Amino acid sequence: MAGHKFHWNDWCPGCGNFGILSAEQQAITELGITKNTVIVGGIGCSGKLSQYTRIPVSGVHTLHGRAIPFAVGIKLANPSLEVIVNGGDGDLLGIGAGHFVSVGRRNVDIVVILHNNGVYGLTKGQAAPTLFRGMKTKSLPRPNINDAINPVTLALASGYTFVARAYAYDVPHLKEIIKQAIKHKGLAFVDILQPCPTYNDINTKEWYDKRVYKMQDMDPVVKSESEMQEKLKKAIDKSYEWGERIPIGIFYKNELVPTYEERIKTSAPSYYDNYPAEQKIEYEKKLT
Ligand code: SF4
Repeated sequence: MAGHKFHWNDWCPGCGNFGILSAEQQAITELGITKNTVIVGGIGCSGKLSQYTRIPVSGVHTLHGRAIPFAVGIKLANPSLEVIVNGGDGDLLGIGAGHFVSVGRRNVDIVVILHNNGVYGLTKGQAAPTLFRGMKTKSLPRPNINDAINPVTLALASGYTFVARAYAYDVPHLKEIIKQAIKHKGLAFVDILQPCPTYNDINTKEWYDKRVYKMQDMDPVVKSESEMQEKLKKAIDKSYEWGERIPIGIFYKNELVPTYEERIKTSAPSYYDNYPAEQKIEYEKKLT
């Protein structure tokens, strides 16, 4: 339409979501999987990422809290696709918490990316599940009376086989973490510290810049069944570090647990046999 101006993005200036969008696009492009990728968004500022990508991936903007089941359905319909969920802490850990936990039991080979900002930004900054008790952001009339969910601990306890944390303003590091999550065989989770400058005036860029550090002391990769418990316990212990120092990087990576798709192939081969040959070939390549 003549004279129409297309506003491709309505995130606030300085929002951490821009760093996530940039890193995710770079990761997908560098891995050469653009045509094969589906980004699934829930409801919230984060959910719009599926529409704001400027690379030719497929995108689905779904219902509040339901991005994970949509993503699982897409993956099971075509296991050769790379499926990435983008959601906020309100979307994934509030209304969507049941899906967040139960997908861990299945180890479906998808990536779940959390835009962790502690507030419901789209609806004017109410307290969201990762905001600590006692915190009073500028959008709250009184301090938050609810305790916070620790997303890394919850993902580890739920059975995610790749668990990492990154920071929205360290785009090169975030990009590498997202690439690792996509390449991982199994269910991957990335908790991204994402400042919301409009409604969260406590966990700001300045606040995180002083605290965030890259983990050097972790050996997160599980190499044998016998070290699974020990590595998981170490990762859970590390996930509680928060305050003056906040670790980012990979907490846990375990490719010894069979994926849901592998379980289907073993226990219901007739279902797997129904996949088109091309999809099977692509998926088998990933398994080897
Ligand atoms: Fe970003 Fe917060 Fe604005 Fe939403 S409200 S776009 S999270 S800065």
